[in-house]
Amino acid sequence: MKIQWIGTAAAEGWPAVFCQCEACRKAALLGGKNIRTRLGAIIDDILLLDLNPDLYAQKLHFGLDLNRIQDVLITHNHGDHLTPLYMEFRNPAYYGKPLPLLPVYGPWDIAESLKPYEQYIRLHVVEAGDVFDTTKHHITTLPAVHSAVNGKMYLIEREGKSLLYLHDTGFPCREALDLIMKHVTHPVDLVSMDCTFGPNPLPKGYTSHMGFAENIHLKRRFLEEGVADGYTRFVAAHFSHNGKLLHQEMCEYMKPYGIEIAYDGMVLEL
Ligand SMILES: [Zn+2]
Ligand SMILES: [Zn+2]
Ligand SMILES: [Zn+2]
Repeated sequence: MKIQWIGTAAAEGWPAVFCQCEACRKAALLGGKNIRTRLGAIIDDILLLDLNPDLYAQKLHFGLDLNRIQDVLITHNHGDHLTPLYMEFRNPAYYGKPLPLLPVYGPWDIAESLKPYEQYIRLHVVEAGDVFDTTKHHITTLPAVHSAVNGKMYLIEREGKSLLYLHDTGFPCREALDLIMKHVTHPVDLVSMDCTFGPNPLPKGYTSHMGFAENIHLKRRFLEEGVADGYTRFVAAHFSHNGKLLHQEMCEYMKPYGIEIAYDGMVLEL
């Protein structure tokens, strides 16, 4: 199984849309892995995770062949994860020939947003605990802990390989952990974790995202419970500029904990 993170920023991007902070200025100056577009990922070139607002720019920058996408999984109805307008461009009128109806899976509240494009897609509403098959992947739906109350996370499996895609979420709730324990039959190959806060502590009582401390805690928990083992790759993504650290600084911070820092375009073969 192959995963490519096509974007790795939180909602505001990095450099953030209207920002002149030092972290954004440094990122703009240094470029490379410090430039982060909004989070998205593609599995095995055919399964798209979220319709992030930067998808078109990512297609151009990384030479993505979006015609290969056979299924779309939506995590939640926040603007940095669901730009419904992309589904307008499934309209055959733009191409003079019909495109296959694109299967789109996600929580019920994405239906309203995608309604104008319903004739171009096949919408499947999923609930926590639902297990289903896309064209090539076996998916288990997990509940996220996030300000979008219907947020979902996914366990994605294919041919003996598996990954957990945990975006956007705070530290997973009991229900999510129980579902993971129930459905993970052997240690997963990869965990991609929400890391919006980076090195910053979460505000008191805040549970909607994670940072380094929660990622380290979650890795320990997954290892203890057998969800992961020494071969599992742990990757942090969905970074806010408020975390301030450059890519290399984040890598150094997390290296002792065996957690990798995603960057736009990063590919892992599992
Ligand atoms: Zn987000
Ligand atoms: Zn900034
Ligand atoms: Zn969100």
